Amino acid sequence: MARAYLKRPPDQTLLVRRGVQLAFLLLNLWIGARFYVWVRHFETGGDSLYVTRPPGVEGWLPIASLMNLKCYTVTGLLPEVHPAGMFLLVAFLAISFVFRKAFCSWLCPIGTISEWLWQGGQALFRRNLAPPRWLDIPLRSLKYILLGLFLWVVLRMPAEELRAFLASPYGLVADVKMLDFFRSPGRTTIFVTSLLVILSVVTKNAWCRYLCPYGALMGLASMLSPLRITRDVVSCIDCGKCATACPSLLPVDRLRTVKTPECTGCMTCVSVCPVKDALDLRTLPLVRPRRRVPAWAVAAGVTLIFLSVVGYARATGGWHTNVPEAIFYELIPRAGSFGHP
Ligand code: SF4
Ligand code: SF4
Repeated sequence: MARAYLKRPPDQTLLVRRGVQLAFLLLNLWIGARFYVWVRHFETGGDSLYVTRPPGVEGWLPIASLMNLKCYTVTGLLPEVHPAGMFLLVAFLAISFVFRKAFCSWLCPIGTISEWLWQGGQALFRRNLAPPRWLDIPLRSLKYILLGLFLWVVLRMPAEELRAFLASPYGLVADVKMLDFFRSPGRTTIFVTSLLVILSVVTKNAWCRYLCPYGALMGLASMLSPLRITRDVVSCIDCGKCATACPSLLPVDRLRTVKTPECTGCMTCVSVCPVKDALDLRTLPLVRPRRRVPAWAVAAGVTLIFLSVVGYARATGGWHTNVPEAIFYELIPRAGSFGHP
């Protein structure tokens, strides 16, 4: 006989998260379009429309951001080149520290597109493929290996060398090189991107779960988070809906608290749980009483941290790259000829 239970009242968890995801995706599209117009102005020698450079584009330069963060930590000097990337990295680390790996499931445009791809695959084929556990776990470690390689390169280089690299012609136009990667993809880029898209359609969050070193870094920060998805074993009716819905393929229905850095704090599991108070995002036992954290609070917290860090960077004059435009007139038309130093 089915166990009687108190039904969870309908909530707007997924709707709230989708709203934040969409807002951030649109923000990135606006930044990308504005940056393209800015680059074209310099490529045409000043003949096309001039707009100011959107510093937010530096959020797409994770390695330069890591380099700047190390330099700032060692020297205490604010970066002259791509400083916004460093502030964005700090904001995303802070978000992951407080709200689990929420950067990946609430803000990252790649995470949003990945989610749409596997949902499209699910609608098309009625299911997504889940690799067996013996394969899934070693594949997940790939992103940590990639992160380790990047950290090894950045941490072993002295701060002066990192600053010299960022101030080199290649470093100054690293964002233009990134734009070129998207607007003039080579055969290898097209092949690898197509492969990733196909993998993302057939399996949930393939890029994020297996390969993204940025997500791996956010996951490590999230291990210190005071919040956890928490299951109340007394009220849980063992329906397994949470585990089936989890995009990170976590066995939520068998855990009391989800501690793994693979949990993105997406709250999909919470939104499908049919039982009142059986599954929630909650504060750790250290914070008594263990408070329930609703989706709107995550949305508000994520937005507040993001706007506070960006606001601080702008107010202290550390948001904009401090390079005379004459240098961009000279470098941007030649950006394609700069190889990686
Ligand atoms: S455990 Fe819940 S919050 Fe964590 S990734 Fe899975 S569905 Fe998202
Ligand atoms: S969805 Fe998960 S936590 Fe909720 S009742 Fe079912 S098994 Fe328990």
